[in-house]
Amino acid sequence: MQRDITAAEALARVLARTPVLGSETVALGDVLGRVLAEAVHSDRVLPPADNSAMDGYAVSAADCAQASARAPVWLPVAFDVPAGAAQTPRLARGSAARILTGAPLPAGADSVVRQEDTDRDGERVAIRFAPELGENVRRAGEDVQRGECVLEAGTRVGAAQVGMLASLGRTVVAVHQRPRVAVLSGGDELVEPDGDVTGGRIVSSNSWSIAAQCRELGADPVYLGIARDAPDDIERRLRAGLAADVIVSSAGVSVGDRDFVRGVLEKLGCRLDFWGVKIKPGYPLAFGRVGDDGRGPLVFGLPGNPVSAMMTFEQFVRPALLRMQGTARLHRPVVRARLAETLRKKPGRMNLVRVALERDGDIVIARSTGNQSSGVLTSMIRAHGILIFPAEASELAAGASASVQVLDADFLASDAPGF
Ligand code: AMP
Ligand code: MG
Repeated sequence: MQRDITAAEALARVLARTPVLGSETVALGDVLGRVLAEAVHSDRVLPPADNSAMDGYAVSAADCAQASARAPVWLPVAFDVPAGAAQTPRLARGSAARILTGAPLPAGADSVVRQEDTDRDGERVAIRFAPELGENVRRAGEDVQRGECVLEAGTRVGAAQVGMLASLGRTVVAVHQRPRVAVLSGGDELVEPDGDVTGGRIVSSNSWSIAAQCRELGADPVYLGIARDAPDDIERRLRAGLAADVIVSSAGVSVGDRDFVRGVLEKLGCRLDFWGVKIKPGYPLAFGRVGDDGRGPLVFGLPGNPVSAMMTFEQFVRPALLRMQGTARLHRPVVRARLAETLRKKPGRMNLVRVALERDGDIVIARSTGNQSSGVLTSMIRAHGILIFPAEASELAAGASASVQVLDADFLASDAPGF
């Protein structure tokens, strides 16, 4: 087991042991937010036929070349083409067809004149505008060609992807399985949110924040409850998590007299890969895997303090859960931000500073969220990002720039629409 490793080493060790989960098929209505396990190729052409982009008249552009507002060209209206028309007659030269948006362009026509550029008079229409060849026509295949790869494997499905899958007639799609994450909390002081908080008891907030972090990235948390500080209770609950893909336990992994989690994990066949990462908050992080056959769950023993638990989840569990889902990019966006104030620390551990971000023109300004104690959850609530204060540095001066992982791009939200 490695001790006292850097964040980069720890992350590399986690990812080296993280498998990509297999696939399952889901119905179109359930695919939002899932990660594609297949590349999606089109079996069709989109749009399927040349069609009109406007309500107006289908014409041959050559027939209207001389048309203008002053000297309109009069054409007989030969027939109507409604949307969804299966078959249309051929348009003879020197005539026009009434056409609605999305309706197929009849053979013989090559352009559409907008209704606003015409005047209808009974069976005839005055064309007051000379269209370019192909004007207001959407070409068959201008969106998607037959056989084209439209969506790559590893894509997270958003609303536009759902619309495309629907257009392609894909009622079922192969996606990666969602990692099942067994979430365990531990400590004699902990109660559920509706519990009695007198006598030194506190709510097990980690159970909730960790489950929520899982859900935010598409994983499926399974709650194992609160274990007492007793090896047999910890063991009983952890056993229930052995069928999961990942076990995330918070608290009890440090060096206190009542920190039994590590011992129980080892008893259950978990080989710890490392313990202790040179970061603050979050030093007492343990990681391993149950069993030697590469099939047992990954195990993360997170520190108990609420900020440390969330932070170590963010830095190490999150990328693993994304990798399991087959996601191509595992990390948050990182921006350079200018410090609004000087930050100081002792050299040795990389600090993960919760910062509020604001935009000043094209520059991003970072300001500490205040008390950075690992129990102060308001420091997370106010954070738009996590500023990386490198291990060996002792000071980052006001005005200097630093890398910030962006957790919440809402600081870019605006009162104005931007147009
Ligand atoms: P421990 O690792 O057990 O020493 O816990 C470190 C600190 O985190 C203690 O103050 C615990 O009360 C607190 N803590 C542990 N587990 C949780 C939890 N599930 N929710 C909130 N705080 C916790
Ligand atoms: Mg404890």
